Amino acid sequence: MTVIRKAFKFRLNPTPEQAQKMVEFAGANRFVWNKALALNLSRLENKQPLLWYFELVYWLGLWKQSEEYGFLKSVHSQPLQQTLKDLARAFKDAFDKTQPLKRIPRFKKKGAGGAGGGAGGGASGSSSDSFRYPQGCKLDEKANRAYLPKIGWVKYRNSRQVIGDIRNMTVSRKGEHWYVSIQTEYEAQLSAHPATSIVAIDLGVSRFATLSDGSYIEPLSTFNSFKQLQAKLAMAQRRLSKKVRFSANWQKLTNKIARLHERIANARHDFLHKASTLISKNHAMVVVEDLKVRNMTKSAKGDMANPGRQVKAKSGLNRSILDQGWGMFVRMLEYKQAWLGGEVMKVNPQHTSQTCPCCHHVSKDNRTTQSRFKCVACGYAENADLVGALNVLARGHRVLACGVETLVLTMKQEPLGSSDTRPILAA
Ligand SMILES: [Zn+2]
Repeated sequence: MTVIRKAFKFRLNPTPEQAQKMVEFAGANRFVWNKALALNLSRLENKQPLLWYFELVYWLGLWKQSEEYGFLKSVHSQPLQQTLKDLARAFKDAFDKTQPLKRIPRFKKKGAGGAGGGAGGGASGSSSDSFRYPQGCKLDEKANRAYLPKIGWVKYRNSRQVIGDIRNMTVSRKGEHWYVSIQTEYEAQLSAHPATSIVAIDLGVSRFATLSDGSYIEPLSTFNSFKQLQAKLAMAQRRLSKKVRFSANWQKLTNKIARLHERIANARHDFLHKASTLISKNHAMVVVEDLKVRNMTKSAKGDMANPGRQVKAKSGLNRSILDQGWGMFVRMLEYKQAWLGGEVMKVNPQHTSQTCPCCHHVSKDNRTTQSRFKCVACGYAENADLVGALNVLARGHRVLACGVETLVLTMKQEPLGSSDTRPILAA
């Protein structure tokens, strides 16, 4: 079971009295934030230790009892304490080296929007005109109203059903309207992919796909049934050129050609389905080259830069058809992985065909022929497409090592490939 957190945001329709209270609450929370922030900043300046949540709550008690800040007493105490909790958290984050966006918390100005930090819908407390209830809130979805302690039942624009148990509610103002953000939590059974392995794919011309485990998928053009269809089409097209335009025979042949085109398109679609299913059901994580980036840096890609003479001669159109096939293949992989609880990761394809997987030396000269890779630095030799797949895999692992993917923990390392593996999908 996995705990899922969700956020729902609705526009509130408070009565004028309720809206007035919200203004007061937001003002008091802003006041407490700024007051406690000033306190800590002056301590920082004087090289004194920072005050954390429990000390700040003690100070809040003192302010409430003072004559000057007695207005704080009319505000529900939980949102005020929550504000101090948020501030303490913001200070903690500011000194946390692992936080990418760390910065000292800032003063809140009246009416300023919810600029700045805080992750997760509605719970950030970063808006200047806002306050958060950590508990005590209720929702009456049938009557379209939310209960906010010390403010009462407030009507809201019910646009969708709230799923899960309410963890907290944040009231905030944007422009002239007030909103409520409701954070919920519930447990769900996430389906886990039946496989636990990671695999990378190199998409190419001489082989449709080469996997990092050494297996590969032959291109559709080598399948006999497909070759026959293409031969039939070529023949029909030759015959058509000899027919009198718009004659009965010409019409018949034109219809036949249209049907052949359709059968070829179906065969291509079918092939992409078979190939993507085969890979998807066997691997929890599939790493592919980012085709968008690849298309922009075609010259860096050996097999696209130096395709066989024939491919080059046919060029343009042919290449774009190939690209479309790859794009559709990746999209199929993505949704099939999503169904099965797996993932597809896209990595930068630059130099994947020129980098030595053994010593990481990058050179155009590593690519001796279209299909052969031999490192000029260390002598490592392998099938060029497999080298591409191994490099894509290495990049996938690098991303996983830096990221927070939970899948990594359960993932097995595939054995390093070898070029004598058999095709897994072939004619
Ligand atoms: Zn090398």
